Amino acid sequence: MTRILVTGGAGYVGSTATAILADRGYEVIVFDDLSMGHADAVDARATLIQGTLLDADALRSALAGCQAVIHFAGKSLVGESVEKPKLYHHVNVDGTHNLLDAMAIHGIDKIVFSSSAATYGQPVDDPITEESVASPTNPYGASKLAIDKMITATGISAISLRYFNVAGAFESSNGWLPERHNPETHLIPLVLRATETNPLKIFGTDWDTKDGTCIRDYVHVVDLIEAHILALGALKPHTHEIVNLGSGGGYSVREVITTAEEILGRPVPAIESPRRAGDPATLVASIVKAKSLLGWVPTRDLKTMISDAVKSQAQ
Ligand code: UDP
Repeated sequence: MTRILVTGGAGYVGSTATAILADRGYEVIVFDDLSMGHADAVDARATLIQGTLLDADALRSALAGCQAVIHFAGKSLVGESVEKPKLYHHVNVDGTHNLLDAMAIHGIDKIVFSSSAATYGQPVDDPITEESVASPTNPYGASKLAIDKMITATGISAISLRYFNVAGAFESSNGWLPERHNPETHLIPLVLRATETNPLKIFGTDWDTKDGTCIRDYVHVVDLIEAHILALGALKPHTHEIVNLGSGGGYSVREVITTAEEILGRPVPAIESPRRAGDPATLVASIVKAKSLLGWVPTRDLKTMISDAVKSQAQ
């Protein structure tokens, strides 16, 4: 049986990966500092090791007997990264340096890395391809790009998956694995919890888009994890590939709200608010490479993402 180290396996995306990998017969070792993740989200079939990427010794022992790594761990709040750029560089880049060193000690040369569309910065292309200029506009995106470059330099077998907007939830054998961020900044969970007294703020209604609100490319977390499993099988010796993961199409903030209203059967209280600093108008992925290299086709639409999010929050 293949033993895989899943860093960040207690977070929203990582815990979904852990459960699906366990379903597929992988032996999963989760390495997570539990700063943002939740121990109770880790599938019971996996082994949870509480540790930080900054602890080289802990990483070395966690990797014993593993054949590959899926690397989700890292700090991931854009706003916080602007306030604490050195912390983001330290945890994400130096932490991944430790991970790559520990992998080398064990002779493990396979990694699938959770990169981000934030590496591209203000988009110049629509859709964004892997060839598009990578010029991040915040320290979070800069840290993901620095890691991508460091992985290339090591010469190991690697695929960096650049996520666009991940949404939805997975119903594991132990129940739903919801998005549980604190603070929550993501649109779909905030749409679902909006009330008359605490309405959703629509960040900008004067963008150059079809209805004036920002357009993003939403991808279901289960489709996203499917791409990671395909990536494990597509790793090639001494080759590092960068692959975008989105749905290949975009929805505006107003379309997300309208879809949620249809699913909830009630209005979503929302107020028009100023633009959020650093937001581009439109971010849509080209997923041509994901299809050709991984054979990946996302199948879950926005309705499914929102209705799964509703079910996972209701649990
Ligand atoms: N957004 C919004 N109100 C909110 C949170 C987000 O209007 O309370 C918008 C945001 O400006 C962006 C989209 O929803 O256009 C998705 O934002 P999110 O923070 O979920 O993901 P991001 O695109 O920043 O990674």
